[in-house]
Amino acid sequence: MSWTALGSAMTGCTACPELAAARTTVVVGEAPRGARLALVGEAPGAQEDLAGRPFVGKAGQLLDVLLAEAGLDRDAVAVVNVLKCRPPGNRAPKRPEIERCRPWLDRQLDLIAPELVVALGLTSVGWFLGRGVRLGASRGVVHEVGGRRVLATYHPSAAIRFGPRGAPMAALREDLAHAARLLGG
Ligand code: SF4
Repeated sequence: MSWTALGSAMTGCTACPELAAARTTVVVGEAPRGARLALVGEAPGAQEDLAGRPFVGKAGQLLDVLLAEAGLDRDAVAVVNVLKCRPPGNRAPKRPEIERCRPWLDRQLDLIAPELVVALGLTSVGWFLGRGVRLGASRGVVHEVGGRRVLATYHPSAAIRFGPRGAPMAALREDLAHAARLLGG
């Protein structure tokens, strides 16, 4: 199945009735041809839900800046989320929602076939490394998970929440630079 066909199938998904009823769009994500890096976030926020694109709000703007600082071009990077539909009120994704959406992300990653995945935030890190994982302890090394190479780091929203001098901002900056080095940048 092609990326476009997969995205079309996804937009008709109503597996999570609460999310399907509340969403404006299914935010499929973006996958430039030949992307070597895939960023995996948590779920669309209000602006993403309206725009139909991932990471377009404040967190996305910060991500763009940090990617550029690391020498990574957002237009060449795949960006997807664990959940494709916005949880109402920006609540955290529920476990059953994550499991219902898992096959979509699995198929996306199979199609993108990136050399490296960067998991942004605990929901995404847990998707790859399992429940109960601690973000601080899982950073800084490449995890081999089901044939995928995964780096764990903070979500840009956490970096914003803790401010420019907070630990999440420094960690996210460092981890994106690490990703760039791993890709030979
Ligand atoms: S979050 Fe995923 S599984 Fe749930 S309705 Fe949206 S696309 Fe379907």
